[in-house]
Order: sequence, then structure tokens, then C-alpha cells
Amino acid sequence: GAVIQCRGLSKTYREGKLVTPVFQGLDLSIQAGETVAILGASGAGKSTLLHLLGGLDIPTEGDIWVDGEFNGVRACWDIASMSNAARGQLRNKALGFVYQFHHLLPEFTALENVMLPVLLGGADVNEANSRAKGLLEAVGLGHRLAHKPGELSGGERQRAAVARALVNKPACVLGDEPTGNLDEKTAAGVFALMLELNRAQKTSLVLVTHDRSLARRLDRVMELHEGKLRELGAGQV
Ligand code: ADP
Ligand code: ADP
Repeated sequence: GAVIQCRGLSKTYREGKLVTPVFQGLDLSIQAGETVAILGASGAGKSTLLHLLGGLDIPTEGDIWVDGEFNGVRACWDIASMSNAARGQLRNKALGFVYQFHHLLPEFTALENVMLPVLLGGADVNEANSRAKGLLEAVGLGHRLAHKPGELSGGERQRAAVARALVNKPACVLGDEPTGNLDEKTAAGVFALMLELNRAQKTSLVLVTHDRSLARRLDRVMELHEGKLRELGAGQV
């Protein structure tokens, strides 16, 4: 089944007299385990779409259902009509985020940063510790558990961010140019790792990127252009 489903999604930013229509009437389904790239020029609305899918913002029109657990009930939740607190609770378990900038907490170690979502999800410290450690080992940071973000390299920080995104075993990871700040070789390593872990955990991935060579390696490629989303065939990417 679908982990995220959108129907008739529109977004218009309004600030005073300034009205910015971004997209209209988008339909999109992300199936379990599927990896999907979203391409588009700068300003096309890729980040806006990802924020809506992740419940970080709400659409002007349309519905978004996310398959996840809320108050102990596993269901498809209509996130646009939930309260902010409810959306936050659903997001913590159902979704993982990786951004261009790592957003790790600077005062906490790599281990503590990855433990945090597990603790927020209600698990005890031992459980959080063993899961965070397991995932940091899986991303090649077993020797960096006690390092703070400032003591890690750029690639290591993104690997820690990947570990944090996956630690609650989300149904879907949302990535917004997660390798955009890294040099080519480091970026390739982090991207390969994300794909490998996503596939191993059978987690879906929605990846916003402007890099067609990365997009091509995912199951499906969509392009956001002039407010519409269309699927590109293999020869078009
Ligand atoms: P992309 O990620 O494809 O570069 P964005 O989703 O960031 O595009 O932006 C799409 C459009 O929406 C742009 O015209 C941008 O200026 C506008 N926009 C983005 N965020 C806001 C906001 N918070 N308020 C007003 N306009 C915004
Ligand atoms: P366990 O065997 O009890 O799951 P591990 O230390 O092997 O303990 O793993 C701890 C956590 O890290 C688990 O949530 C597991 O799903 C995750 N994990 C470990 N290795 C991987 C991997 N290669 N890919 C994805 N997740 C992993």
C-alpha cells in the first residue's frame, strides 16, 4: 500500500498583499519501499512539496494521508487536518528527514543526537542507546559516537543525520538535497549509503534533488515544473 498519498494538493503562500502560487492540483502516491526523486528548477516548489508531505506545513487545498502510528493506532492519517501536536507525534515515528544542512544539535554527541527521536517516541534510555548505536555503526560512525557535530567532517555529519532519520524505522524518509553541500566523492558515498539502508529497511524515500545522475538511480522520477508534477520516463532523466 501507499505510505503517503496526496490528492488535489495546492499551495499558495500569502503574506499581506504578496501572493505566491506554487503548485495546483498535484496527485502523488508513494508506495511502501519505493524510492522517488523529485526534480525541478530552483523555485519550482520542491521544498514546499516536501514540507507538505512531511507535515511541516499545511496545503492551501487538498488532502495528504500518511500511514503511521498516532496514539498507538496504526492508520492512514489525514495530516492536513490534525493539530500541530498530533502532526508532530505522527511525524516522529512515521517519517525521517535529511536536509542539505545536518540540523544536528551542536551541544550533543552523535550518539545523543540519534537517541533523541527514539526517546521522544517513548522508548527507554537503554533501547534508545542500543538502537542509536546500531544505526551509527551501520552508517560507518561506530568510532565517532562521542563526537559532537563540530568534531565531525561534513560527510560524517550527514551520515549521522541519515542515522537519525532512520532510527525510528520510519515508513518514509524525506530528503531535501541531502548531499547538496558535500564534495562529489563524499556526496556519492552518503547517497549510496542512504539507498542501501533505505532498501535494507524497506523504507520509502522521497528525494528532492537537482542532480539527474542521482535521480536516475531511484525507482521513479517526477519533475515539478510550472506548478505541475509529471512523471519522467527512463529516457527523459
Ligand atoms: P524549490 O525548493 O524548488 O527551490 P521552494 O519550494 O523553496 O522551491 O519555493 C517555491 C516558491 O515559493 C518560490 O517562489 C519561493 O520564493 C516561494 N516560497 C517558499 N517558501 C515561502 C514562504 N515561506 N513564504 C512565501 N513564499 C515562499
Ligand atoms: P538488533 O540486532 O537488536 O536490532 P543492532 O545493534 O543490530 O540490534 O541494531 C540496532 C538498530 O539499528 C536496530 O533498530 C536496527 O534496525 C538498526 N540497524 C542495524 N544495522 C542496520 C542496517 N544495516 N540497516 C538498517 N538498520 C540497521
